[in-house]
Amino acid sequence: MQPDPAQQAALGEFDGELPDRPLLDQAIEEGIRNPELRRVRKAERAPTGRARCRECRELIERGSIFQSSSDSECIIHLMARSMGRTLPDRMEEALRKVEGAFSVVAMTATQLIGVRDPLGVRPLVLGKLGEAFVLASETCALDIIGADFEREIKPGEMVVIDETKGLQSHFPFRPQRSRFCIFEHVYFSRPDSIQGGRSVYETRRQIGVELAREAPVDADLVCPVPDSGTPAAIGFAHESGIPYGMGIIRNQYMGRTFIEPTEQIRNMGVRLKLNVNRALIRGKRVILVDDSVVRGTTSQKIKEMILDAGAAEVHFRIASPPTAWPCFYGVDTPEREKLLASSMTEEQMRAHLGVASLRFISIDGLYRAVGVPGGRNAAQPAYCDACFSGDYPVKPTDQLARGFKLSETAEPAE
Ligand code: SF4
Repeated sequence: MQPDPAQQAALGEFDGELPDRPLLDQAIEEGIRNPELRRVRKAERAPTGRARCRECRELIERGSIFQSSSDSECIIHLMARSMGRTLPDRMEEALRKVEGAFSVVAMTATQLIGVRDPLGVRPLVLGKLGEAFVLASETCALDIIGADFEREIKPGEMVVIDETKGLQSHFPFRPQRSRFCIFEHVYFSRPDSIQGGRSVYETRRQIGVELAREAPVDADLVCPVPDSGTPAAIGFAHESGIPYGMGIIRNQYMGRTFIEPTEQIRNMGVRLKLNVNRALIRGKRVILVDDSVVRGTTSQKIKEMILDAGAAEVHFRIASPPTAWPCFYGVDTPEREKLLASSMTEEQMRAHLGVASLRFISIDGLYRAVGVPGGRNAAQPAYCDACFSGDYPVKPTDQLARGFKLSETAEPAE
């Protein structure tokens, strides 16, 4: 999480020692009152669901003024109300009151603080650049600045780094079994990163291998839906022996379409983002390998583009199980009703998309690909896989209060 300008303004004059709580409260209030900062905050406002605070309502009732729906603002308010003496003490107390997934990095004038939630849903890594410590969400960020990877911050670990004491580590939360986000392996992380000691690229390639074993099909060409489908398509082609080719070319300057606000923009976004390599796919039976199907909008457009360009058949192979549940741990997925897999079987989705065949990797196949040879252990899953299974490792209490229904077959959250 990055502090926004108002938070920076509020905290900037503190160096880690906070004997004067009213001064901090005053600084935060000044940041909130400043109209210039308020404009910036409105422009940056974006709903997220990474961490929920049981006490948000209480904070509001006790006079805290929220300027955004950002989780980090909630943490800042909790820190401001803490009686802790130092910023790390205050952050620790604040984070004990939130639930969900978070990886927080904060700086004072003299300290660098990193904290990972007790389940370790989101990644956080520690590197070294000369004698200096570096914190980043992924190892690829360390490569970019020439830092060496030291280790992952462990689930539930808090590190406080300063010049005099170096790195101090402790575990302020109740220990829990870790539940790293399995979708980091499929989509979020960059393929040039290492997660859990495994190359993300190699894991994705292995997902393609598993997919080819589980869902073979007679065809002429394996094409990735770029970019996140690329390593899985390479694995699929290698395992199946079907030639691999770049049938779709991605415009590198476009963002991700599944978070665009309206269907019209999403539809246009697909055409702007992806174009078909006509000469390659004309007359061929094409297997398209994609990372996931969310609403199905993008998949349908891509199928149309491929058929318009003269492909004989389109088969979809998907590198994750059907996304039937929303993520409440920091991913802006649509409501459950808008997820194609929430109301359709695999065959119904195939008919809806209008493709010759559609197959998703099984949840056990995905677990095997990420390095769990026995597949998913339903009693103690090694990962968070809630968007596929409906088994939420942290009960989404705020969503339940709004009427969200949990899966009846999923194990109850701890
Ligand atoms: S619900 Fe899905 S995307 Fe969200 S943390 Fe769990 S596995 Fe990752």
